[in-house]
Amino acid sequence: MSSRADDNLPTLIREKLPNLPDEPGVYLHKDERGRILYIGKARHLIRRVRSYFQQPESLDVKTQQLVARVVDLDYIVTDTEKDALVLEDQLIKEYRPRYNIRLKDDKRYPYIRISMNEPFPAVSIVRQLDDDGARYFGPYTDVSSMRYVLNHALRMFQVRTCTLEMPEKMLDRPCLDYQIQKCPGPCVGYEDAEQTRRRAEQLCRFFSGQDDQVLVDWRAEMTALSEDRRYEDAAGIRDRIKMLEKTVQKMTRIEGLRGDMDICAMARDGVHGCGVVMRVRMGRILSTATFHLEDKLDQDVGGFMAQMLREYYPRAGDLPAHVLVSHDPGNMEDWCSWLSELRKANVDIRVPQRGNKRQACDLALHNAAHKLNERLLNKEEGRRIKPGSTTDLQTALSLHTVPETMECFDISTFQGRQTVGSLVYFRNGEPLKSRYRRFRIKTVEGTDDYASMHEVLSRYYGRLREKNLHPADLVIIDGGKGQLGVAEDVITGFGFTSTTVIGLAKREETIHLTDGREIVLPRSSKALKLVQRIRDEAHRFAITYHRNLRASETLASELDLIPGVGPVKKLALLHHFGSLKAIKAANIDQLQEVRGLGSADARRIIDFFLLRREGPAS
Ligand code: SF4
Repeated sequence: MSSRADDNLPTLIREKLPNLPDEPGVYLHKDERGRILYIGKARHLIRRVRSYFQQPESLDVKTQQLVARVVDLDYIVTDTEKDALVLEDQLIKEYRPRYNIRLKDDKRYPYIRISMNEPFPAVSIVRQLDDDGARYFGPYTDVSSMRYVLNHALRMFQVRTCTLEMPEKMLDRPCLDYQIQKCPGPCVGYEDAEQTRRRAEQLCRFFSGQDDQVLVDWRAEMTALSEDRRYEDAAGIRDRIKMLEKTVQKMTRIEGLRGDMDICAMARDGVHGCGVVMRVRMGRILSTATFHLEDKLDQDVGGFMAQMLREYYPRAGDLPAHVLVSHDPGNMEDWCSWLSELRKANVDIRVPQRGNKRQACDLALHNAAHKLNERLLNKEEGRRIKPGSTTDLQTALSLHTVPETMECFDISTFQGRQTVGSLVYFRNGEPLKSRYRRFRIKTVEGTDDYASMHEVLSRYYGRLREKNLHPADLVIIDGGKGQLGVAEDVITGFGFTSTTVIGLAKREETIHLTDGREIVLPRSSKALKLVQRIRDEAHRFAITYHRNLRASETLASELDLIPGVGPVKKLALLHHFGSLKAIKAANIDQLQEVRGLGSADARRIIDFFLLRREGPAS
C-alpha cells in the first residue's frame, strides 16, 4: 500500500521504487528531459534509493532541491559493491552529471615518460598513460616545477630526450644536448645501449625516491674509474654525486616516515574542495599534486575525498603499497580492493589516528587548506561567483525555473570578410569551456548578420537534434529584434519549443523577448551583469578565433618556408604560441610541447629562424 508521501511522487518513481532490488549497484537520477542529474552507488539499492524519496525531510536542502527535479530513475545491479564503485566512476566520467562532485580543472596533466621499452631509452613529457612497458611518473599538476625538476635531473643523469629510432637510425654528429652535457651521444656511438639503459634505470630510481641506490652505484663507478686512472671520467661522476646529494638534502623529509606512501588530504569550504596527494618515497616528499573540486550537493568532506581518489588513481603513474587519507571516503574495504586491482598488488588504505602518520596527514591537510584559501581569495574566482545572479535573472525574465544552463551566440566579421560565429556555454553562472563551439561561416557572402546567425544556429541545433540532445535552459543572442526573430525561427524549427530565447541589444542593453516585450534592467542589476558577461565572453571567444585565423594567414607565409612543417603542424604551432614572435622565441623544449611536433621538427624550426637571423652564408 502506498503512503501519502508516495502519492506525491512522480509516476515513474512511484512505479519503480517498490521493485528496486536489495542488491549492490548504481542508481541514476533523471530529470523530466531524461538528463542524468546524479549517479550514486549503494550496497542495497532499495534502501539507498528509497531514502531519497521516502524521508525527504531528513535530507539537506541541496539534496532536497535535487530530489525535487528527479522524475525518473534507473539502476544497474552489480555483483559486489566494489564493482558498483568502478561502474559509478565510469558512468560519472561518461555523463558528467551536474550534481556529482567534479574536478574544476579537468584537464590532462603531464607525466614524465622513460621509454624502458626501447633499446636506447629516452625521456619525454606526455599527457597520456599507456600500458606499453615504459615507466611513467606523475601526473604533475604543477607543470613548471615538473620542468624544473626534469631539467635538473637530466643534467645529473644525462639521458637522451630525442625521438630518434635507435639503433635503426644513427647520426653522424650529436645534437646540442651533447655539447651542453645533457646527453652522452649514443646516436653517434659514444655510448652503447647497455650504458644508455643503465642511465635510464638510474633516472627511474631517482624519480622513485631510491637515490641511495644511485649514489652507491656512482661511488663504485667512480672508484673503478680512479683505479683505471681515468681521472677525468671519475671527476665527472664525483660532480654528479655532489649534485645529487645536494638535491636530496633539499627535499622535505617527513620525520619518522619510512618507505613509500601517498598521503591524500582534502580541505573543504562550502561547495569548494581542494585535495592534495603527496607522493612520499623513502620518507621524502617527491612531488605534490593539487586538485580543485566542486560540489552541487552538501556532501561531507569524505565525499570529496572519494571523488579525488576516483579521479587521481586511474591516472597515477605509480601507486605505492600504502595510502593514507585525511578523511574516510567510506567503505574502506572496497577502496582497498579497487586500489589493489589498479596496482596489481596489495594496497592498504587508512585514516591514521595518531603518531607520525597522522602528523604527515595534518601537514598535507594544512597544504590543502592553504591552497583552497588561495583559490577562493583569487580575484578571478571571486569575480566569477555571483550568488543569486541566476535567480535574479529568473525573476527579471519571469521564467518558471532558474536558468541553470545558458548558451550565447555571437557573430563577428572582420573588414567585411571572414565571418565567424561563436557559442559559449554557462552552467550555474560559470563558463563551461568544454561546451564552447566556434563556426567558420561557409554559405554567406559578405556581411550579413542575419544569414550568418541563421547558418550558425542551424548547424548547431541541427547537430543537437541529430544526437537527441537539448538546448540550454536559456539561449542568448547578441542582437536585437531581427537576430532574435531569426533565432526563434531556427530553434523552434528544430522542435525545441520549451527553451527561452532572448536578445541583448548592444547600445541600450535592452533585453528583447520573443513575445515582443523589451526589458531594461538597472545597470547595477546582477541579472543584467550576468547576461552582459556571457555576451562579452561570446564576443571575446569569436574575436580570439578571428585573430587566430588572421594570424594563421600571416604566419602561413613564413612558416610555409620551413621544410617539413605542413598545415597541421602550422596550426598546432599557432594554437600553442599564439604569435610568430612567440614561436621564434621558443626553445627546443618548448617547441616539443606542441602536439604533433617531434624533436626533429623542433630542431628544423630553430635552425630555420637561426639561419634567417644570420642571413645567407657568404
Ligand atoms: S640526437 Fe641529441 S639527444 Fe639524441 S642521442 Fe644524439 S645527442 Fe642525444
